Amino acid sequence: MSSAHPEGTPRRAHTARRRLLAGGTTVVAVLGLGLTPASAHADTTQLPSLVTADNIRGHMENLQTIADYNGGNRAHGTPGYDVAANYVVDQLKRAGYEPQTHTYEFDRWLENSDPALAQAAPEQREFAHEDDFRTMTYSGAGEVTAPGGPVNPDSGASGCSADDFSGFSEGAVAIMRRGTCSFEEKATHAVEAGASAAIVFNQGGDTEEETEAFQGTVSNPVDIPVLSASTAVGEDLVDAGEELELQLSVDSEIATESSYNILADSGSGKEDNTVVVGAHLDSVPEGAGINDNGSGTAAVLEAAKQFAKLDDPNNQVRFAFWGTEEEGLVGSTQYVEGLSEEERDDIALYLNFDMIGSPNYGRFVYDGRGELEGSIPPPSGSAAIQQLFEEYFEDQGLVSEPTEFSGRSDYAAFMDAGIASGGLFSGGDGTKSEEQVEYYGGTAGEPFDPNYHTPEDDIDNINWSSVEELSGGIAHAVETYAYSTLPVNGVLRGSGDAAFDRQADLWLR
Ligand SMILES: [Zn+2]
Repeated sequence: MSSAHPEGTPRRAHTARRRLLAGGTTVVAVLGLGLTPASAHADTTQLPSLVTADNIRGHMENLQTIADYNGGNRAHGTPGYDVAANYVVDQLKRAGYEPQTHTYEFDRWLENSDPALAQAAPEQREFAHEDDFRTMTYSGAGEVTAPGGPVNPDSGASGCSADDFSGFSEGAVAIMRRGTCSFEEKATHAVEAGASAAIVFNQGGDTEEETEAFQGTVSNPVDIPVLSASTAVGEDLVDAGEELELQLSVDSEIATESSYNILADSGSGKEDNTVVVGAHLDSVPEGAGINDNGSGTAAVLEAAKQFAKLDDPNNQVRFAFWGTEEEGLVGSTQYVEGLSEEERDDIALYLNFDMIGSPNYGRFVYDGRGELEGSIPPPSGSAAIQQLFEEYFEDQGLVSEPTEFSGRSDYAAFMDAGIASGGLFSGGDGTKSEEQVEYYGGTAGEPFDPNYHTPEDDIDNINWSSVEELSGGIAHAVETYAYSTLPVNGVLRGSGDAAFDRQADLWLR
């Protein structure tokens, strides 16, 4: 059935269905039991029919109401987050769970006032905050007047090695181009070379994404001010030559703050082979965040509620609602890093759902095979998770495509810990192609979610077909892995650990 397809090419549904029926029918007839057991194929799991788009919509409407009455958002440190968390806890308790609050502290980077950037020589010039330059999160604070020092500015590898700084005059402002290594690496090399500040300008190209003053992060606190700039500004600074004199200031600080995750275990099934299913609960301060990530939260919450009705799952399932994802994946990272080695080993796999209702959506499956250029290398077993989702959509006669494990959501810490990961995504700030319009409808040339991280990300801007289609995949995966994670981590669990026969291409307990 499933052989590896080139990147982005959709899978054709018909072949899968024909072969499945031949095998599936036989097996299902033999067993003929109620809600258990489940196999890898869509028509044998029950949860997708229990987890309805209507119920998910109900949760999303409630999250919108919570935001409406609590300052318009559900961001970290706000009443909107706390009330949304209470909502999740209350819903879980009603379904029979005993949700736990996992509290943590973290260093939060704050900018207290707008930064400034100006050129004092060879001629005077003021630059506009946001249009021309921005502060990178976790930038150091300070006021700097110093010469400019371009660092291998024509290459994307600019500042990626200490050698790049040979001839760099100590105390200057390092001017680097965006490209092949992280902003953290560039800034760290600049600090080591004695730079008083750093500016990373966009790589250049045809799209706005490649040329605008982007919002970047250096991921961990650095001692010097670090700014991003548009390609135009960066190249102007480089062209200004040796006389370039810059003045800049950043007013930021690191504050120790606390937040919390909500975790709920199924309470039945093997604890040493736990399936973790997560979605972040916080929004950005700009708005209610109903697609990002009210949609994922609502789908995971409804899956948990309906999952409580299934009989005797073999594997424990842990439903997780992460805090401070928008602050840098903090809640999920604190959770994984806080686990002992044994507790990590007890986690069979992680499923992440962050945005499943994008207005101009696509059906995206995280790149467990690690075929896409921008993907983090996936731990073994992640490819099997990708295949399960692809098979699910094939069984529905729906096209799906792989999407990068870009490191921009809560799977990152699990993957860093070597835990097989996967999930679904309906698209964010990427742009839909003409070809994708054939697969999903919508508008070519437009972002998948034009309201990403804006006040317009609200209940009126959700694609309910996307919610319906992706939530079916979520429910299918949760149920399938609750009964067996064999293809992912080779662990076969069952009541009394009885040996289970493998039948045709259906792996059953
Ligand atoms: Zn998100």
